[in-house]
Amino acid sequence: RLEQKLKDGQATNMQTLTVELGDRAYPIHIGANLLEQADLMVPHLAQKRVAIVTNTTVAPLYLAKLTHTLEQQGVSVLPVILPDGEVYKTADTLNLIYDALLQNRCERKTTLIALGGGVIGDLTGYAAATYLRGVPFIQVPTTLLAQVDSSVGGKTGINHPLGKNMIGAFYQPQVVLADTATLDTLPARELSAGLAEVIKYGLIRDLPFFEWLEQNMDKLLARDKDALAYAIHRSCQNKAEIVAADEREDGVRALLNLGHTFGHAIESGMGYGNWLHGEAVAGGTVLAADLSRRQGWLDDAALARVRTLFKRAGLPDTAPDLGVASYMDAMGLDKKVEGGKIRFVLLKSIGEALVTADVEADKLAQTLQGFVS
Ligand code: NAD
Ligand code: MG
Repeated sequence: RLEQKLKDGQATNMQTLTVELGDRAYPIHIGANLLEQADLMVPHLAQKRVAIVTNTTVAPLYLAKLTHTLEQQGVSVLPVILPDGEVYKTADTLNLIYDALLQNRCERKTTLIALGGGVIGDLTGYAAATYLRGVPFIQVPTTLLAQVDSSVGGKTGINHPLGKNMIGAFYQPQVVLADTATLDTLPARELSAGLAEVIKYGLIRDLPFFEWLEQNMDKLLARDKDALAYAIHRSCQNKAEIVAADEREDGVRALLNLGHTFGHAIESGMGYGNWLHGEAVAGGTVLAADLSRRQGWLDDAALARVRTLFKRAGLPDTAPDLGVASYMDAMGLDKKVEGGKIRFVLLKSIGEALVTADVEADKLAQTLQGFVS
């Protein structure tokens, strides 16, 4: 810690890790009040000009602070303020970004900065990947979900009326700044939704982290800065390792979809927006854990442990009763289906996941029937 502090020459407890992607490698900085640290951003700018893309909720909270930090270093800032919500993660909203960039003659070297949650990050990243065939971008995620998940790994994109995240590109940022102070204003329900993805990393590949979460869940819910920074760092480390091994999801990256096949069925079955993504992932992970138990991999105690941790994080520990048929239906439409068979991410144990298409139909039906509330 101290060494890191001295190295960074900062007064804060900032931590840094690197996503190892060769010439596209980039740092992730984690700590409180990073929005005020110009030296974390300015060296990455190809030109002293940026467009900050944000939304109507985040702009009043953090746009002035980030703008001030940059302007003090002589950087000119174009704000682009979008409407807030997943329903705006569309081609129409993307066009609003292009409009602003073109009207203001933004150039190849103008950096786009995404200031907001995953919706802003995905939209801005895709705008950066495509505007003038690619301009640099910086991620400043302000939700826990964005800090531990969507800002890391280079998936960018928008929704299409026929499916979520169906249009997009792999495009890596120059740097990610996860400012834990921004989480102070995050609604509790959004904080919990982010914790679902945090717990996921423990479940799929990091038993000691899962155990740490069991010990520290109350601190996280109380937004203890050190606990949050640790959880974000450890989550990003796990995601960065997976992404470095499999940037384009040909293999191990699929493990990140634990709970997501069921989760997408829950999200669409409940009507998008009624369950937050993280809530659906929690419910979906409980189903995946129960199916893992029926495969003979998890025992009853392990399943109970998974459910207890979700519950303590303020998340569902069960799945909604949509009926077996509608789950099956929704999962048939999932884009992770290969050759007609559903590929499930299941748990061999807490801390070890695997992908399998080898699940008996009656076990799946038992899980779906047994777990609805
Ligand atoms: P979000 O971006 O909609 O943010 C949630 C809400 O919190 C919004 O109303 C937002 O305006 C508000 N908000 C953001 N920061 C705040 C702050 N500091 N204080 C108060 N309010 C704040 O949702 P999300 O959960 O951050 O992201 C979900 C999106 O991320 C989805 O579109 C999903 O597809 C995408 N995603 C992408 C990846 C990826 O790899 N690219 C991974 C996971 C999720
Ligand atoms: Mg997810």
